Amino acid sequence: MIYKDLEDRYGSGIYYKRDIEIVSGKGIYLYDSQGNKYIDCVAGHGVCLFGHSHPKIVQAIKDQSEVLISCPEIFYNDKRAELLEKIVDITPKGLSKSFLSNSGAEAVEAALKFSRKITGKTDIISFTFGFHGRTMGALSATWKAEYKKPFLPLVPGFSHVPYNNLEKLQDAITENTAAIIVEPVQGEGGVKPANMDFMKGIRELCDEREILMIVDEVQTGFGRTGEMFAIDRYNVIPDMMCLGKGIAGGIPMGATVIREDLKKLDRGEHGTTFGGNPLACNASLATIETLKEEKLIEKSKENGKYFLSQLKNNIDEAAYRDLRGVGLMIGIEMKQKVGPYIAQLMEKKVLCLVAGKLVVRYIPPLIIDKNHIDTVVDTTGEVVGRS
Ligand SMILES: *Cc1c(COP(=O)(O)O)cnc(C)c1O
Repeated sequence: MIYKDLEDRYGSGIYYKRDIEIVSGKGIYLYDSQGNKYIDCVAGHGVCLFGHSHPKIVQAIKDQSEVLISCPEIFYNDKRAELLEKIVDITPKGLSKSFLSNSGAEAVEAALKFSRKITGKTDIISFTFGFHGRTMGALSATWKAEYKKPFLPLVPGFSHVPYNNLEKLQDAITENTAAIIVEPVQGEGGVKPANMDFMKGIRELCDEREILMIVDEVQTGFGRTGEMFAIDRYNVIPDMMCLGKGIAGGIPMGATVIREDLKKLDRGEHGTTFGGNPLACNASLATIETLKEEKLIEKSKENGKYFLSQLKNNIDEAAYRDLRGVGLMIGIEMKQKVGPYIAQLMEKKVLCLVAGKLVVRYIPPLIIDKNHIDTVVDTTGEVVGRS
């Protein structure tokens, strides 16, 4: 494996890697350098909503690359303008101003900075098992100690409260609390949905105490959970939303969407070189269009239910502790560490993720159909035990 050798020699060495070299993809499938074909339930960490090389996304990237790839936000641009307008259409009412960036962590980082600026307060509350990215600010909001320990000290003013526990949250709020940041379904943390009362309660507490509610939809956005955004299910309107991952169909992009009536940000206070570049903007426009044209949000809901019920019906109940999911974000919480399961699934040509130590996580492209799901469920049964 020559690429493996090169990467091992010259890469940072900071990632856990699996022993395959992925060289191409088409639809739901990925191909390795040996010509093996895999069903992809990783989707680039939930990025590839349309699988690989979807013609609409390919065309949008091709077309825009021939016209204009780069254009910083010091200039106006047609594709950026169109996308900014489109984001208002698809996000909850009242959220109508976007800061465009290049990743989820950057979208979170911006939301954290903006909350301090807007409220004049310093502190941020996030939740146990939450994940918000790896830059210093986003990492401060992230829960997992292993991610943080080597890099201390982080940003001051962050605290973590048990997820789905309003009482503890209420106790943690102080006069310095600027914002509460929450995932509507914790992804990395083990595919855990927020309770209805919890999300509504956060909104109420934020209103009472003049705190900003930031919803991190980096993983859950753009149809993943069977709604355009996971927050749509709760009938709650946040003050800010962080977007990333699937937002541009595979091209790197992040966005921080802000409530219209919040105190204005001042010019020059934040920025990023690649933010709002026309290539990513056009890919994102094509993403939003394709989600609608191919009814993928509805399909995510329907096929997500099918996936979950097939797992329930076919997997040995004795093998797992819990089976849960929202749309095409599905997790099986096992009774033991899942590393070996993931490796065996890969040997059987199904690629999945972990979420924490105990959860096998499936976040496939939204184009996955029932046949693929049957194969994935069948293979999972072979590995963890059939009912
Ligand atoms: C992946 C993720 C991030 C970080 O996004 P990056 O693009 O990796 O920086 C932030 N929040 C959530 C909920 C995520 O799933």
